[in-house]
Amino acid sequence: MANNTHLLLRANLKQLKLPTMAAEFEKLAREAAAANEIYEQYLLRLTELEVAARSTNAVRARIKNAGFPVLKDFDTFDFTAVPGLSKPKMLELARGEWIDERSNACLIGSPGTGKSHLATALGLAACRQGKRVRFVAAGALVTQLEEAQKRYQLDRLLAQLDRLDLLICDELGYLSFSRAGAELLFQVFADRYERKSLLVTSNLAFSEWNQVFQGERMTAALLDRLTHRCHIFEMNGESYRFRESMKSRKGRKAETEKG
Ligand code: ADP
Ligand code: MG
Repeated sequence: MANNTHLLLRANLKQLKLPTMAAEFEKLAREAAAANEIYEQYLLRLTELEVAARSTNAVRARIKNAGFPVLKDFDTFDFTAVPGLSKPKMLELARGEWIDERSNACLIGSPGTGKSHLATALGLAACRQGKRVRFVAAGALVTQLEEAQKRYQLDRLLAQLDRLDLLICDELGYLSFSRAGAELLFQVFADRYERKSLLVTSNLAFSEWNQVFQGERMTAALLDRLTHRCHIFEMNGESYRFRESMKSRKGRKAETEKG
């Protein structure tokens, strides 16, 4: 009884947690019969579907867990707008070897120059390579650390962060921290040194980082570790947002003058 076989097979595949095989085996079996495929060929094609679905789901889950505020990728980034930025070097970084080598990256530059956009694109590339990533604004990270400490759960949070292959700390420098907050952030950065990668974006030049970390000694110690093996990109220039809005304003003005 084909139907009974189908029911039992579906139940087994469900129990074995092979949902794609369960969904596809009938259709594939019809195709295999029509094409006179051997059994192994049929089984191979069926398992390939399950493997492909699993890896797609894993990438999706890694991207979700990374917590990117908006999904921005390289395809929408206009490299010609940032002439000082090396596109080949950035795309080389997107291959992820720097993360395997436990190095760091810094994107430094004025607001609106695409730092968060590129940090997200690099993070997405890492997720697709099977790496564990988290994207967090520096201020939010410090708040999380302080709250965890209050609840005696700091070790747990630090262990979670430690499992990440890449921690992206965005917008360092917009907010300055309390001494305790700065020390906690320092601890996270220092813990990752030569063990796990860190990507930091900041509107401040390194020489200004003691505004955030309070105290020259802590800042020097932190920069020493962060920049030891670090890909540094300086992205100074006009804000892309500002330029785009000026362009559309000029466009509108030209339209009204014409009409
Ligand atoms: P930053 O983090 O440096 O302040 P963002 O990455 O947030 O800047 O960029 C601001 C906005 O402008 C975002 O919507 C971003 O996608 C866009 N943007 C910035 N630079 C570029 C660029 N070179 N090409 C395309 N979009 C860009
Ligand atoms: Mg930003």
